[in-house]
Amino acid sequence: MHRLPLNPCELEIDLFCVGTRVDASCALQSDGRTVSRTRAGLGSGLELVLPGDLKNIWVNVPVEEDFARSSPYLLAKSGDGYRLEDDRSGRRYPVNVPSAPPWYERRTSAGTPMRRIGVLQGTYLGIYISNSCLFWYSEPSMHCRFCTTGANVGVNEVALKELEDVVEVCRAAKEESGVTFFHFNSGYSKRCHEEAMPFVRAVKERVGGLVGLQLMPSRDRSMYDRLIDLGVDHFSFCYEFHNPDYFARYLPGKESTLGQRAFFDALEYTARKLGKGAVSGEIIAGVEPIEDTLRAIDYITSVGAFPTVCIFRPVIGSDMERHPSPRYEDMRMVFEHVYESCRKNRIPIGLAPNLEVSLICQPDDTRYLARSGWATWMYEAWLAAMRRLARPVMRKRMAPRVPARCAGPC
Ligand code: SF4
Repeated sequence: MHRLPLNPCELEIDLFCVGTRVDASCALQSDGRTVSRTRAGLGSGLELVLPGDLKNIWVNVPVEEDFARSSPYLLAKSGDGYRLEDDRSGRRYPVNVPSAPPWYERRTSAGTPMRRIGVLQGTYLGIYISNSCLFWYSEPSMHCRFCTTGANVGVNEVALKELEDVVEVCRAAKEESGVTFFHFNSGYSKRCHEEAMPFVRAVKERVGGLVGLQLMPSRDRSMYDRLIDLGVDHFSFCYEFHNPDYFARYLPGKESTLGQRAFFDALEYTARKLGKGAVSGEIIAGVEPIEDTLRAIDYITSVGAFPTVCIFRPVIGSDMERHPSPRYEDMRMVFEHVYESCRKNRIPIGLAPNLEVSLICQPDDTRYLARSGWATWMYEAWLAAMRRLARPVMRKRMAPRVPARCAGPC
């Protein structure tokens, strides 16, 4: 039982670990975004916003998994407002339920439902560009054991995205929802980098905004050079587990086709090219021993990247659906370490405007966990200065780019 009220980041961590029940007083069909089961399945929860004085925190709260059904939290509505009630302490936390964007109900000019092209996860737009992940189609299947992509792409979202559909959806998301960041990801595909190029080019030149890519690592470094020339602002590399035994056991496809080292090499190369804080290493906390997760955070920040730490969610339909959800105390320790490692390595966090990711506890969220003292004060002052300096750069990146000359399949 938590003796003190939780701050917004602590509440976010607890919600990722235990989920919430939903009271009959809630009118989520009309007030909220529907639970959307896409890609690996991490976004399978309910989007909430936890208000706070440093920043508001967006969180995608598990509601459908078994552990959420016995959660101590209950989401309830009274009057116009929502709150989370914690049965253990009797505390009530006011929360906001973000509404679904109007464009979710529209179709592109080609007639494709816009919600089947991209999904808002927090304040960014996520688009799965490849025709599913080849790991699901090998015999025996080599898919990552926590993932449900094979069951979702082509069912809940369009398998093969048309360029014009994507441009229209990105434009609607930018103009109507204030989206600043477009994130394209792909499962395992031999040509995922070439496939991403036309999308990057079109969004940078015809929409404007920050573009991130989450693809398999490539040994061909020129792929990254070309993508950076086209305007990619961010790369993330999902290597999930730092402990090599866990990497091999839970990611059989990544182990047999790429190996963990390929992720490290790509992370280090792109972090050097794009500079501090532009690249992330994505890991899952709550499965491998905590010491390995802490080592991963130290490694990622030491190469100038920032850690994207997902709290393990035993998603319905995945092989790990019966694996226990992590403990709050362990996860709080992990995220306090995220802040400390970013501070020690001077990683600029929270510079991008209006970029809130609901699937993870962002490094920027962990500012609520900072220990008070001179070192934190210095880092926070430096972050505030970096945010000011970054403003004109970000403004420029929000505008459509002057077309680049094409030197490849773009
Ligand atoms: S690479 Fe792994 S996590 Fe990503 S889509 Fe394929 S099976 Fe799922």
